[in-house]
Amino acid sequence: MIDLRSDTVTRPTAAMRQAAFEAEVGDDVYGEDPNVNALEEEAAAVLGKEAALFVTSGTQGNQLAALVHARPGQEVILEQDAHIYLYEGGAISALAGVQPRTIAGKRGAMAAEDVDMAIRAEDIHFPETGLIFVENTHNKAGGAVVSVADMKAVFDVAQANGIPVHLDGARLFNAAVSAGVTVADFAKYTDSVQVCLSKGLGAPVGSIIAGSEAFISQARKWRKRLGGGMRQAGVIAAPARIALKEHVDRLEDDHRLARELAKAIGQYEGLSVLNHVETNIVMMDVRNSGLTHQDWIRGLKERGVLTGGMGPGILRFVTHLDVSEEDIRKAVLPAIGDLLSR
Ligand SMILES: *Cc1c(COP(=O)(O)O)cnc(C)c1O
Repeated sequence: MIDLRSDTVTRPTAAMRQAAFEAEVGDDVYGEDPNVNALEEEAAAVLGKEAALFVTSGTQGNQLAALVHARPGQEVILEQDAHIYLYEGGAISALAGVQPRTIAGKRGAMAAEDVDMAIRAEDIHFPETGLIFVENTHNKAGGAVVSVADMKAVFDVAQANGIPVHLDGARLFNAAVSAGVTVADFAKYTDSVQVCLSKGLGAPVGSIIAGSEAFISQARKWRKRLGGGMRQAGVIAAPARIALKEHVDRLEDDHRLARELAKAIGQYEGLSVLNHVETNIVMMDVRNSGLTHQDWIRGLKERGVLTGGMGPGILRFVTHLDVSEEDIRKAVLPAIGDLLSR
């Protein structure tokens, strides 16, 4: 099976398994796991923040940001297709007690003027705006990169109003590699940032959140309250350190493969690609193919290729560490062609 459902499906490499096997460990709730401590220091440095925290998942990292930055009854601003709004089970409301205020972005980027307009004035009737979320790359927009300039513009508005900004950077490394900048160039225009180690970077488990020392110490406490205090977490932090150190530059390979796949899909009659492919996500529009997206998912699975739906008539392919050029050329494209010719 060639699994293109997500970049979360990667298996740890031999080097990662070896690192997990050999990891020196301690109890991280006591702050004594050397690999967790090293990972947190290394991640903070890469992101250009004072401190970082190793968390169980991207969702946990984003939720910790909401819990630390905002108070119950406040409103948070986010893009209308943000992962935090669509795919985190309503957790910002269930856990942090905040209500979402959504803005339509353009390829995932909210306009600073729209953010400015959405910030609440002081009024006895209104909730206060407690936090602004930005997502980069933007998942639902097909892995679109939000430019450094757009991030700065939103951050300037936020600062002028004294409102914190959290970046859901589940795929921030993809954004950085695509834009030819560093992750710190993006994170500079945020108060806190979450990055997934278990997506394109290929670690088996975990995300990082980073921010000021004060932010991280509060986040650490919230993580404990949520049951996220881990013990000998060095067994997962050791492979995560390899992901952070060695799997960033190779993201360019995933992006090249995604572009190749998109180009080939565009040549089939009845199929088109919805997104401008900047990173590792391709959104295939099957509405003119005579088959539903469910037919496509089933048919490709029967031909050895796993994909996922992204709404009616849309299929998502995500390239990653465990997919090769040969897999795309010799298996994925022939499977698409075969299904189309039925
Ligand atoms: C995957 C993802 C998350 C959540 O990460 P998990 O580790 O699956 O909880 C958050 N935001 C975005 C944009 C994502 O793509």
